[in-house]
Amino acid sequence: MHTNPLQKTFVLLLLALLLVACIGCARGEETMPAATPEPIFIVTHAPQVESIPTPIPEPQLKYIFLFIGDGMGYNQVQTASEALSADGREPLSFLDFPVQGSVKTNNVEGKVTDSAAAATAISTGQKTVNGFLGLDSGKNRIETIAEALRNLGRKIGILTTVSLDHATPAGFFAHVDSRRSYATITDDLFASGFDYFAGGGFHNTPDAPELALENGYALIHSFEEAPVSTEGKLILSSSLIFGDFGVLPAIDGGARTNWLKKATDLAITRLSVPEGFFMMVEGGRIDYFCHYNDAGSFVAELLDIDEAIRSALVFYAQHPQETLILVTADHETGDVTLREGDRAALLRQVISSDICDNTLVADSLAAKTPFEEALPLFVSAFGLDDLSKEETALLKEAYAKTIAKNAPGNTSNEESGVYEPITTACINLVAARAGVRFGSGGHTQKDVPIYAIGIGSEFFGGTYENTNIHDAIFQAVAQYPIS
Ligand SMILES: [Zn+2]
Repeated sequence: MHTNPLQKTFVLLLLALLLVACIGCARGEETMPAATPEPIFIVTHAPQVESIPTPIPEPQLKYIFLFIGDGMGYNQVQTASEALSADGREPLSFLDFPVQGSVKTNNVEGKVTDSAAAATAISTGQKTVNGFLGLDSGKNRIETIAEALRNLGRKIGILTTVSLDHATPAGFFAHVDSRRSYATITDDLFASGFDYFAGGGFHNTPDAPELALENGYALIHSFEEAPVSTEGKLILSSSLIFGDFGVLPAIDGGARTNWLKKATDLAITRLSVPEGFFMMVEGGRIDYFCHYNDAGSFVAELLDIDEAIRSALVFYAQHPQETLILVTADHETGDVTLREGDRAALLRQVISSDICDNTLVADSLAAKTPFEEALPLFVSAFGLDDLSKEETALLKEAYAKTIAKNAPGNTSNEESGVYEPITTACINLVAARAGVRFGSGGHTQKDVPIYAIGIGSEFFGGTYENTNIHDAIFQAVAQYPIS
């Protein structure tokens, strides 16, 4: 093709312009804006970048908390709950658990259960006679849920506010036909190989330190002594024991404050392993004070186990796909009923009937304190302000009986507890003001509540026998295995 010089110049100019433009492209974005593709273009052409939701982990039941309020019937729970709300305090932690059930507690003979038969039913799934631990009614040894879960490689913890050889904790490791066979129960405790025990003392085992050593347990008496390493087996036998080798009553405050919560926290620290744990935590003195019809003290014990349950709930919040929390009772004690009253009066009592006998009453007897001088001390210990004439007369009469009896100290026992007349008059007055009535000094056949939250909790709704608690725990374990 023939081109004239003008055309040639034009073509060269065009080429030069194109060259400059291309250099600009290669250098950067200033000369020509870089092509900005539509976002849809990237998505369409990028390989597999559509957002994948974070997979929800499969629930695995690793961590099981079984809280047992000994003697904690429906009305004990309602009493404590209403006392809190009357005082403007936070409600109990477990009342709104999503699954709730009702548990029948009779023993194998259809009679009122004791704590031994009830603990055995819960732990083995078989009813037995009163006094038996880990044995069926034919005295055959039956495996407890704690032993079975230990054999599956889980860590086991047994915690209580009463003595370590008491019926409820013993129902998870002992096999004996009398709950009072303390030596056998202690032997079984050491033989269990469970990882952690926390509670009061032992009834008649002066060689507990030697036994602990022989069986590979570290034995400590306070939280300060807890080993830094969480390896190994541990027994916390509290030095804060009182009378029956149980831990001091909660209401007397001070040293005992939140002992069970701290013991539960220590259990969580020591037992949280990938293989999982089972822990039974007992509020053992709810029963004790219901036997004695001491309402202020049983409420304090119930609030005390509630603090331990709060620790479990904190753990649950961190492990929601792996944790089950159960809160129940072995039986009801005291046949508690409620009528109108000032429930907050229960929270104004700051001394237990036990400690009152051993301090206020003993001191008054020793000093032969006249009623007028002693009265303000009892009024302040039991929160009995604004006494009416009738109430004052009642206390005066009781105090006179105490002085006449002149036998200081607590002479009561668990079956037939009787306090000093002045102590009894004070706890009766608190209960009357609060609208709490006791129909009995013993256990009853009333159903007890169960509250459940977490993985496998769906197995705990409805009304059933106490043996079903054992069965339902196994159903939950089978339904949500650890992979
Ligand atoms: Zn009892």
